[in-house]
Amino acid sequence: MARLKKVLIVGGGTAGWLAACYLAKTVNARDPNGVQVHLVESPDIGLLGVGEATFPSIRGTLSAIGLDERRFLVGATATYKQGIHYRHWVRPPGTPGADHFFHPFNAPSQRPGGPELLPYWLLGAAPEGMSFADAVSMQTTLVDHSKGPKRFKDPDYQGPMNHAFHFDAACFARVLAEHGQEALGVKRHIATVERAELDENGAIARIVTKELGDLTADLYVDCTGLKGMLIGNVMQSTFRSRADVLFADRAVAIQVPYERPDAPIPSYTISTAQEAGWIWDIGLQKRRGAGYVYSSRHTDTARAEAVFRRYLGPAADDLKAFHIKFETGYRPEHWRKNCVAVGLAGGFVEPLESTGIALIELATYLLTHLLPSDTDAMEQAARHFNEMMIARYDRIIDFIKMHYCLSQRRDSQFWIDNTDPSSIPQTLQDKLAQWKTRPPHRLDFVSDLEMFLVSSWQYVLYGMEFKTDLSAMRSMYPRMDEAKQEFRNIQLAASQALHDLPDHRALVEQMCREYRQRVGLEGAVA
Ligand SMILES: Cc1cc2nc3c(=O)[nH]c(=O)nc-3n(C[C@H](O)[C@H](O)[C@H](O)COP(=O)(O)OP(=O)(O)OC[C@H]3O[C@@H](n4cnc5c(N)ncnc54)[C@H](O)[C@@H]3O)c2cc1C
Repeated sequence: MARLKKVLIVGGGTAGWLAACYLAKTVNARDPNGVQVHLVESPDIGLLGVGEATFPSIRGTLSAIGLDERRFLVGATATYKQGIHYRHWVRPPGTPGADHFFHPFNAPSQRPGGPELLPYWLLGAAPEGMSFADAVSMQTTLVDHSKGPKRFKDPDYQGPMNHAFHFDAACFARVLAEHGQEALGVKRHIATVERAELDENGAIARIVTKELGDLTADLYVDCTGLKGMLIGNVMQSTFRSRADVLFADRAVAIQVPYERPDAPIPSYTISTAQEAGWIWDIGLQKRRGAGYVYSSRHTDTARAEAVFRRYLGPAADDLKAFHIKFETGYRPEHWRKNCVAVGLAGGFVEPLESTGIALIELATYLLTHLLPSDTDAMEQAARHFNEMMIARYDRIIDFIKMHYCLSQRRDSQFWIDNTDPSSIPQTLQDKLAQWKTRPPHRLDFVSDLEMFLVSSWQYVLYGMEFKTDLSAMRSMYPRMDEAKQEFRNIQLAASQALHDLPDHRALVEQMCREYRQRVGLEGAVA
């Protein structure tokens, strides 16, 4: 038996540093007799630098690695995110009908012993015209009033409203790097990896760097971003494209300063559908981060940038745009021999619903908990890990495709092509067929393999105005009066919560001020 003693992470972006921190914390890398966690990052090759919106799982991850919430907010220039606001996804601008819907992070309200509200909403028990999300959750009301998800005194990463964060990707990697080295025992090397050499079994024997010569480990974690230097070039693990389902393969991004320093900060991502994709718009502490994600089959770079600049208006006139290429897909073998990919090196699903960093968290969690203490058991762990990752990717891809294929937009070839049945996975078609006569139920999902719980499917399905006809099953739902009362109670609770929760910008600024005071930085420039 060969004991696993050293893990080497290659790459210092979000994937590299999150993996390093989580792994080091879990294996207690500060113990000299335990597993050592090293990270090498290039001084010359930059990060991707986008990836600013997260998923609620991030709170568990940051809490698990022991990163103080206020320090995180200051270091990553972070703000809170309570969901995603979709504009013009159902129909194009200027068409009669609702022009937006909200996907909140809070699950629908469910009083113990009370009726499950979705069927009653479908049967018309909620106030007329009220969307599903507005009827079953108070979170839309709160974000519409610019409220944050927690109170100043709530413990770190806790609060009455489910939430995630928005942050600056480069600043986030920096704060993780500091924390990983100071508190968790990660050993950092600054060097560019030029190549890797294999042993007689096809496993990585060593990596060769320009500045530091050879580096060796028992397990190599490839976090080198889209190129997947180790897992792709060295280990030859192939990429399975899913561009036939999700067409977006380009993005153009611009960082836009606020017009006023006290401008309200939305605590949600805004996603606005366009002729060939959609635009993300995110509020950080000092600026917005925005980008147009589009399909190069349906528009070209110049037109995409023009559409994007029209959306941003004069505020972005002199600002530089960054163009990015990507492809939705993944490597079915994320883990081969003694090399495992985390982050973009392993795969990527276009960023609607912000699954990139959540997939990093998941891969890190799986890696840490499947990590064999005996290197001879690596192959079995790899098979298990790969099965779990493939299942997650496929389910996420179904979920994202649902946003596109339910659209009523036919105003461009992009939207027409998205409803072509040949582009819709059979697994999604089967779900949608069943949901015509019954709503989504948690039994539709194998929870351990899901990133999106049933409530997310419900919010998006009905936000996209999908029709479920429950008339033949009406007799199963006799609690109409109780349900009507529940819907009224949720509205009352929302008006109460408006008094209890602080303004989002005020919350962020107060939390940051408290941190600066604590570490003696108050008065310093933020
Ligand atoms: C358009 C777009 C928008 C996105 N938006 C979101 C979002 O809103 N939310 C979300 O969760 N995710 C999003 N993502 C995904 C997110 O950006 C990534 O998951 C995240 O940035 C992680 O990237 P990474 O660490 O894998 O790679 P990178 O950030 O590219 O980091 C790679 C690291 O590897 C190092 N490196 C590379 N080669 C070498 C070498 N030879 N030697 C040594 N070091 C090397 C680099 O120096 C760098 O440190 C988005 C992605 C795209 C393309």
